[in-house]
Amino acid sequence: MSDTTLPKRHDVVVIGGGQAGLAVGYYLSKQGADFTILEAASEPAAAWRERWDSLKLFTSARFDSLPGMEFPGDPDRYPTRDEVAEYLVHYARELDLPVELNSRVRALRRQGDGYVVELDDRTYEARQVVIATGPFQTPFVPRIAEDLGDDVVQMHSTAYRSPDSVPGGRVLVVGGGNTGFQIAEELSASREVHLAIGSRQTPLPQRILGRDLFWYLDATGLLRKTTASRIGKRMREREDTLIGSSPRRARRRGIQLHGRAVAAAGSTVSCADGDALAVRGVIWATGFRVDHSWIDVSVLDADGRAVHERGVTRSPGLYFVGQLWQHTRGSALLGWVKDDAAYVADQVAAFRPSTAGEPALPGLRIISPPTSRACPTRTHPSG
Ligand SMILES: Cc1cc2nc3c(=O)[nH]c(=O)nc-3n(C[C@H](O)[C@H](O)[C@H](O)COP(=O)(O)OP(=O)(O)OC[C@H]3O[C@@H](n4cnc5c(N)ncnc54)[C@H](O)[C@@H]3O)c2cc1C
Repeated sequence: MSDTTLPKRHDVVVIGGGQAGLAVGYYLSKQGADFTILEAASEPAAAWRERWDSLKLFTSARFDSLPGMEFPGDPDRYPTRDEVAEYLVHYARELDLPVELNSRVRALRRQGDGYVVELDDRTYEARQVVIATGPFQTPFVPRIAEDLGDDVVQMHSTAYRSPDSVPGGRVLVVGGGNTGFQIAEELSASREVHLAIGSRQTPLPQRILGRDLFWYLDATGLLRKTTASRIGKRMREREDTLIGSSPRRARRRGIQLHGRAVAAAGSTVSCADGDALAVRGVIWATGFRVDHSWIDVSVLDADGRAVHERGVTRSPGLYFVGQLWQHTRGSALLGWVKDDAAYVADQVAAFRPSTAGEPALPGLRIISPPTSRACPTRTHPSG
């Protein structure tokens, strides 16, 4: 066996080099831990580049910093998609984080008292593994999309870049979350736009009395209410919130609102309120599924969701970071992921394999991974 085929060893392997993986990397690096970060894409935080060109954050720059480096520029502005991507690439470089690019993990298995991490061309062995592969993974499109004719141009919101990506003529955007509203608003400057809304979300203004909405959410402690708290549970159960958009504002821009899209035939889409529209293009702003199919460790529920408590799974030395509502509302947001990252890094530092038993997670049922592990997540993380 040549050296290149021998497994590489690290105490800790972090899977995913987005903001969550980088934030964990920051704390591991401060500990002097022996670790690596495996990132599937050709640059860190690649998910941001896959979002539409004109995307502006709903969190102001004041709330977009990872630990150890301020987000640059005016703290009251709303950074663009590219600014975020550049900040995160710069973060990884300046803090000298060991990010291995073009390194997609294909399988994760338990072996002895550690883990085996398999890539196409190499294998790692690690005592501990942190999974930071993101809350928004596989684009979800409803089955009715298959009933649209070939003359209708259709795409998921992740494929939408700008109005140039969509043919002229009447366009239907499906999905009443922030993504759907924002894309519909952008398209409405150049064509007739309709928006099909499955479930109404509460509109919130981006700024209140001159201050960013997130300033209030932070100052009142709402973003750090835990999943276990009564208010946290209530926030989690509620539908997402719309930030800066609203049905009223959309109507003012000439966007025509409809109920949930329930059927399609040829170039016609029918909505739950009885409306039927002949369209040239459809944008599916209909969310994502989590894909944990490569995780061959019994830490997933029947829907493929991670079973954990504050990111700590029942499998010794295996953690998640960056999940929606991992611990608080802020868990999957740029400015607050550091709380979970610090907590998980502390667990990593405290881990002792010889004494580690399987921690009891009260109320959580662990089952073997199912063959298909797709589960819905939200279209947009604002709620
Ligand atoms: C449209 C949109 C707008 C948003 N706006 C804001 C905002 O304004 N403010 C805010 O705070 N948050 C916002 N978010 C939420 C959140 O900040 C982002 O979703 C963020 O990208 C999540 O970071 P992450 O590191 O957890 O996951 P990701 O950014 O998805 O990173 C995960 C990384 O893991 C890699 N990966 C996945 N699978 C593997 C594998 N098997 N092996 C190796 N690598 C793998 C991916 O390539 C990716 O780079 C927004 C999200 C969306 C979708």
